[in-house]
Amino acid sequence: MPLAVALDLGGTQIRAALVDAKGIMLNRIATVTQATAGPIVVIQQLVDAALEVSRDSNPADIIGIGVSSPGPLDTEQGIAIGLPTIKDFDHVPLRALLQVKLSHKVHLENDGIAAAIGEWKFGAGQGLRSLVYITVSTGIGGGVIVDGHVMHGRKGMAGHIGHMAIMPNGLRCNCGNVGCWEAYAAGPAFTARANAKSAADVFAAAKQGDAAAQKHVDDEVDFLALGITSLLHLYSPEMVIIGGGLSNAFDQLHPGIESYITQNAMPAFRDVPVVKAALSGNSGLIGAAALVFQNT
Ligand SMILES: [Zn+2]
Repeated sequence: MPLAVALDLGGTQIRAALVDAKGIMLNRIATVTQATAGPIVVIQQLVDAALEVSRDSNPADIIGIGVSSPGPLDTEQGIAIGLPTIKDFDHVPLRALLQVKLSHKVHLENDGIAAAIGEWKFGAGQGLRSLVYITVSTGIGGGVIVDGHVMHGRKGMAGHIGHMAIMPNGLRCNCGNVGCWEAYAAGPAFTARANAKSAADVFAAAKQGDAAAQKHVDDEVDFLALGITSLLHLYSPEMVIIGGGLSNAFDQLHPGIESYITQNAMPAFRDVPVVKAALSGNSGLIGAAALVFQNT
């Protein structure tokens, strides 16, 4: 059976999986990213993870290696232009450096787009022709599938939806700009407004009837829904899929998001379903594997 090795480079964890053509993970490992050790060490960690996760399989079964990485990436050239969470990843030829150490073809994709592909091929968006995937965690990322194709744009950098600006002279974003959607709707903004240690604490308090916590959840709903409404109008997806850490509280966010869309989106867009990612934390990893199966 053909298998793909999937690698997911994150700021805190490197994850690897062996995935079959149905998107089933046969083996999965995770290790702590040496995020301050520089690209040489991190790339060796990726290589080691790829070898370890595939150690017990027949090399002839493996048809390629898919890599999901934070952006911005130039995926046409295979270059990591500047990864905010990993030190010194500044114009690193990530794909080429991996390719010289690994014997199967390496496919590289932005993590938001990889997760969108994962949900499209194997998750909540199977069979659709257009969808928007949004990950809401320490930042906001995403990917857009339009008319049966992945939207890549110039250098493969399309879909940095967290950095659509929603507020003039607004809060400073990690990207350097001000007023980005991410600066208002990502996890850290939510917990900062609530003066809480974690998003989970706020959601738990709201669930127990804490009115102040519920107000913060309602504000978070409004910020998320405002961006989602714009995405509906921009891309006319058949479905909006939400993943990332905050999607753990999807049931507390979803009614308010639906209600906001019903009140504010143009009428023709109001019936688009907003759903929770089906592959939970593995959308990017399984999407990385899908890159391999798509390209063979
Ligand atoms: Zn930004």
